[in-house]
Amino acid sequence: MAIKCALSEELPVDEYLITEEPYYVPVGNEVEIFTAAYKNLLPVNLKGPTGCGKTRFMEYMAWKLQRPLITIACHEDLTATDLVGRFLIKGESVEWSDGPLTKAVKSGAICYLDEVVEARKDTIVVIHPLTDDRRIIPIDKLGVIVKAPKEFMLSVSYNPGYQSIIKDMKQSTRQRFVAIDFDYPPAELEKQIVAHESQLDEKTAGLLVEIGQSIRNFKHHGLEEGVSTRLLIYAGKLIREGIEPKEACRIAMAKPITDNPDLQKSIDEIIAAIM
Ligand code: ADP
Repeated sequence: MAIKCALSEELPVDEYLITEEPYYVPVGNEVEIFTAAYKNLLPVNLKGPTGCGKTRFMEYMAWKLQRPLITIACHEDLTATDLVGRFLIKGESVEWSDGPLTKAVKSGAICYLDEVVEARKDTIVVIHPLTDDRRIIPIDKLGVIVKAPKEFMLSVSYNPGYQSIIKDMKQSTRQRFVAIDFDYPPAELEKQIVAHESQLDEKTAGLLVEIGQSIRNFKHHGLEEGVSTRLLIYAGKLIREGIEPKEACRIAMAKPITDNPDLQKSIDEIIAAIM
């Protein structure tokens, strides 16, 4: 197979460039760690629960590093072909169309595979040669191997809370990434974030965070996952629109996270006590 070295900016990827600084409040030294990983061509795994800021962080880093960001939401039906590319019939002719991963490699973008464990293991194997010293993507159907330019980076996200035997990351995949732990931001920062994102006063945002933290304590008592920062922001937005605060909390927090009536009742009690 011929090895082609991808030229950065070979493709028009302007649509993936983030031109305005995304609002992101660093929680620890994740910005420094990610920057160091990027400089050293190391793939990164962002580990943490849903809705705690991983995607926002990726947007912020792509903006800061001035690279296009190509995000791929992983799911069971995602195939290696979806990632790499396929031939498409266009009128009388057949044309090759790069998949998002190939596009990211060729253009020196940051490729973010969200919820990587959702993808089948045979699909994920295509990222392996991109995550070691080779940094290549073989395109079997074209008989070419594309080498990633130094600007290209691969990152994935993974929620350890959903771990199961069927949906776990194989060690052979895991050990190709450095991992950064993410969690819900500490109360004071989460208050600022909720206030900023929902355009709500800090006092009410603080109450939402207090409710969120109390609900998170149920995690080991029947709740699969704590309430996310995202849901606290949703509650804030409903309140700002004039929905009665307790009801907004029930709609955005109690109901989405569980179908268990007993747990919902307990969460309602927390809401009533704090809001
Ligand atoms: P994840 O990708 O972890 O599921 P998101 O990045 O979509 O979660 O986070 C949900 C929302 O929470 C974001 O849209 C953003 O509004 C807010 N958020 C969470 N953490 C932060 C943070 N550190 N700085 C700014 N916004 C944050």
